[in-house]
Amino acid sequence: MSIAERYTHLKQSVPPQVTIVLAAKTRSPEEIEEAIDAGATDIGENYVQEAEAAHSALGDKAGQVNWHMIGHLQKNKINKALQVFDVIQTVESLKKAGDIDKRVPAAKDGAHVLPVYLEVNIGGEETKTGISPGDYDDFEQHLINVVRGMTRFEHVRLEGLMTMGPLTSDPEGLRPYFRRVREMFDRIIDLGLPHVNMKHLSMGMTHSYQVAIEEGANMIRVGTAVFGERK
Ligand SMILES: *Cc1c(COP(=O)(O)O)cnc(C)c1O
Repeated sequence: MSIAERYTHLKQSVPPQVTIVLAAKTRSPEEIEEAIDAGATDIGENYVQEAEAAHSALGDKAGQVNWHMIGHLQKNKINKALQVFDVIQTVESLKKAGDIDKRVPAAKDGAHVLPVYLEVNIGGEETKTGISPGDYDDFEQHLINVVRGMTRFEHVRLEGLMTMGPLTSDPEGLRPYFRRVREMFDRIIDLGLPHVNMKHLSMGMTHSYQVAIEEGANMIRVGTAVFGERK
């Protein structure tokens, strides 16, 4: 099957309210273009440089879709990231949110409001970034404190939670982790805070998106299932 066929197939197999973010790391601009032509609306990139390269190669077509930063964002890359990304899914601290907030007014569209998500490292793995349960006596309270802290920023708006889930060969093993993030998502919505618009729950990849959707994900990040195995 072609990229276009695999995208169409995936799109038809998930509920209509689920946004598919195509994880495009290592893929060529031609591969990304084929997906956009097949109807892809959201592209995820892990590295600022790869996103810049895809943008310049795609020209006007890059503007047809939303670009999501789904890899770890270093402080010294924020300015460049703001030139190419519409959403940053990988904010791991109040400090990073503040660093982004400060830089948004100087970015491409001026003083707009940038949607960001908090990344939760729900499995607490050392190799992953994100807010990790093991680092806090009361992880849920910490997360809520970060959320409350973010309400004071003018140029970033919290719109979601993102998680990877621990590395496991069996997607069923991810279910309790996804469920815990979903519960946090609901709790944050229930707080009804000003300047928070919690609407995206980004979890699930090629091998786990079905379980993630069952546990409430309304955004999945998929690469392999559409683009094929990475080389
Ligand atoms: C690569 C990647 C994905 C997608 O992985 P696949 O297994 O290829 O679907 C999702 N999220 C993040 C953060 C990634 O880096």
